[in-house]
Amino acid sequence: MSGLWTWEQKELARPTTKQEVIEAGLAYLEGVGADLICKVCIPSGGSCCLSCPFLSDGVGCGQRNTSCTAWLCGFLKYIYYEAGLIREWEDFWDEVPGQQFRYDTTPRHFAVRGWLEPPKLRFLSEAFADDLRRLRQDRPASWLVELKGKLDWHIDEILESTNPKFVKKTEAKLYRLTSDFQQFHRVKAQLK
Ligand code: SF4
Ligand code: SF4
Repeated sequence: MSGLWTWEQKELARPTTKQEVIEAGLAYLEGVGADLICKVCIPSGGSCCLSCPFLSDGVGCGQRNTSCTAWLCGFLKYIYYEAGLIREWEDFWDEVPGQQFRYDTTPRHFAVRGWLEPPKLRFLSEAFADDLRRLRQDRPASWLVELKGKLDWHIDEILESTNPKFVKKTEAKLYRLTSDFQQFHRVKAQLK
């Protein structure tokens, strides 16, 4: 939770539940097309659920929580960043208390100041996933996981920076890292 609320913010507070924010997060992830990227990432050994005790074979996550719903890997962070959604996403989850590593202590009832409306951007992730699938065929097994880590690192650097020159330089690094993602960049150009 970020800071104390002013009277006006209290007036705007929206009562919600843990289940409702998880469902809003999942609907948003679906709107971004996250599942399309996961389908390429998981068979390549990049799954973020690896070795989690709550993961059941053939069933998936047995303990869906606010923490894992809010968390973005490098690929998703990159898509959100490029689509201009990352601040909205982070601001929303900053309002949700009790996020831990792979579990939460989020109360059943609480209030938030804003809400997430799912975007209609599956085409963006579809293009990224197609590029990822094609590119990983000619690259070493570790390539996908390393790329995911680098994207994550650089986007965090950008989000933490207040220096526009540094941001520009780091955005250029992101572009170099993804320069072979031709379908993605073609589709993304249509967003502008
Ligand atoms: S690391 Fe990212 S792309 Fe891979 S399975 Fe997890 S959420 Fe999906
Ligand atoms: S708790 Fe989190 S890491 Fe574990 S299986 Fe569920 S989504 Fe994956």
